[in-house]
Amino acid sequence: MPKIKNPKYVFVVGGVMSGVGKGVASASIGKILQSRGFKVTAIKIDPYVNVDAGTMNPTEHGEVFVLDDGTECDQDMGNYERFLNRDLTRANYMTTGSIYLSVITRERNLGYGGKQVEVVPRIPLEVIDRINTAASQNNAEIVITEVGGTVGEYENILFLEAIRMLKLKYPHNVALVLVSFLPALGAGGTELKTKPTQHAVRSLNSVGLHPDVILARAPVPLDKKRKDKIEFMCSLDHGNVISAPDVKNIYEVPINFEKDNLGDRILGKLSLRFGHRDLKQWRRLVSAMRNAKRTLKIGIVGKYFESGNFVLTDSYISVIEAVKHASAALKCNPEIEWLDAGKFEKGAGELKKLGDYNGIIVPGGFGSRGIKGKLKVIEYCREHKIPYFGLCYGMQLAVVEFARNVLKLKDANTTEIDPKTKHPIIDILPEQKKLMAEKNYGGTMRLGAYPAILDKKTIAIGAYGTNKISERHRHRYEVNPDYIVKLEKSGLEFSGHSPDGRLMEIAELSREQHPFFLGTQFHPELKSRPLSPHPLFVEFIKAAAKYKTKPRI
Ligand code: GLN
Repeated sequence: MPKIKNPKYVFVVGGVMSGVGKGVASASIGKILQSRGFKVTAIKIDPYVNVDAGTMNPTEHGEVFVLDDGTECDQDMGNYERFLNRDLTRANYMTTGSIYLSVITRERNLGYGGKQVEVVPRIPLEVIDRINTAASQNNAEIVITEVGGTVGEYENILFLEAIRMLKLKYPHNVALVLVSFLPALGAGGTELKTKPTQHAVRSLNSVGLHPDVILARAPVPLDKKRKDKIEFMCSLDHGNVISAPDVKNIYEVPINFEKDNLGDRILGKLSLRFGHRDLKQWRRLVSAMRNAKRTLKIGIVGKYFESGNFVLTDSYISVIEAVKHASAALKCNPEIEWLDAGKFEKGAGELKKLGDYNGIIVPGGFGSRGIKGKLKVIEYCREHKIPYFGLCYGMQLAVVEFARNVLKLKDANTTEIDPKTKHPIIDILPEQKKLMAEKNYGGTMRLGAYPAILDKKTIAIGAYGTNKISERHRHRYEVNPDYIVKLEKSGLEFSGHSPDGRLMEIAELSREQHPFFLGTQFHPELKSRPLSPHPLFVEFIKAAAKYKTKPRI
C-alpha cells in the first residue's frame, strides 16, 4: 500500500459546555468520511495531567477503555473503534500529562540542543508531531482529532494553539468543527437559543481560530431560521451549520449528519473530492435496531453507576454497546436495567426478581464493595438456570461462587478481598506479587490483547468458530492453577486458556448443566463492533432470547 504523505486534518472542539457528544460526533465524522472511500483514523486529546486513564475512577470519568497494545484510555476511543471498525493504538491517544512527559524526557536527554524549552511552541509542536505519527502509523488520508474540554477554558488552550499553527501552515488541509449546544427555552422547550454558540465562536476567535462547520446539538433539529442566524452571526459559509438533534441510538448520528451533507462540507473545506457515499450497511444496522420486535430484559449488576440520584451508565458503556450489537444481530431489542449489587445482600426477596430478566451480566470491577451481592446473584443464576455472563471480575466471582457452593470450600475467595483466605481460588501470580511488594501497581496489571486457545466441544469454541482468539485484558488477579483440576472435576470447565496453559481465560458450565453460564477473564465488550458483534455476546443474547422469564407473582 503506498504511504500517504500529507494527511488532511479535521479537528473537533466543543463549545458552551461539556458532555455535548464530541466523541460520538468525531466518530460519526470518521464514519462518514470512511463511507466516502477515505482512509480515516481518529485521535483523542484529553486535557488532564494524568498520563493515561488507568488511574481514574469510573464514576468520575466513565469507563477506562483498553486498546490491543494495552493503552488505558478514554471511552471515546471505544466509540472511534466501534464506528470506524478499526483497532487503534497508543499513537491515537494523548493527554496533557503524556505530552509534557515526552517533552520533559526529551529535555532531560538534551533533545533540545541546549535551547530554552518554552511551552509555546514546544507543547503544540509535540501535539502536531503526535498527530502526524498517528496518521502515518494508521496510513490515514484524513485524521480526526477530538480536543477534550470546552473552548474558553485554560486546559485545552495549547491544543487550540496546535490547530492554529497547522491551519496557518496548511490552510487547505485543516477543517475545524465546533460542536455546540443550543438550549431550548419557552413553553414546550422549542425555542432554541443561539447566543451561547455565538459566544463559543468568539472564544475560538480570541485564540486565532474560526470554525468551518458548526454541529448544533439540541433536543430537536434546527429550523432554517436558526441555521441562517448562526451562519450570519458566526460568519459561516452557507450550509455549514449542521443539525445534531438528540437521538435514542448513537448509531443514527452519521445518518443524521449526512441529511445536512456534513461529508460534502468537510471534504469541500479539505479540497478533497466528494466521492460516492456508501452508508448502506450502516443504515441496515440502524434499521435493524429500530425495528427489532422482541424485547429482552438484561440486568447488569454493578456498583459504578450510583452517584447521588444519577445513574452513571458511562462506567459500563462498552458492555451496553456490546449488548446492543449482539441484540441487533438477533433482531432483539435489549432493555438494560441497572441492578445495584448491594441490594442482593439482603435476602431471597430481591434475588427472586432476577427471574424477570432474560439474562444477567456481572461486569468488571475492583475491590470489595458489592461483592457479597454479586456472589448471591451468581449463585441464583447458576441454580435457577438464568443465562449468566461474567466479565473479568464477573468471571472470577463465578469461580469463587462455584468453589464455595459446589466444591464446598466455604471460605474460598479472591485474595483481592481476603488476602489470608484458606482457599485463594483467585490470586496474584508469583511474578506479580514481587511487583506489588515494590508498590509498582501499574506494572502488575495484565493489560491489552493476549492470545488464548479454546477447547473442543465447548460453548466458547462454538461461538467463535475457531480455536485461536485474541482478547483484551485489564486485571491483576487470575484463577489459581492449584484449584483447576478440582473445579473441572466438579463440572466447571476452563474452555479457554493462555497458549502455555497457565492462565485460565474462559470458564463455563456445559449446555447439559445450564443454558448459558460463562465467564471471561478478558473483556470481550472491548472488541464488539456494531458491524461485527462479539461472538460471546451473541451466544449470551441467543440464550437470553430462549430463556422464559418468570412473571412475578
Ligand atoms: N479486580 C479484578 C482483578 O484485578 C478484576 C478486574 C476487572 O474486572 N477488570 O483481577
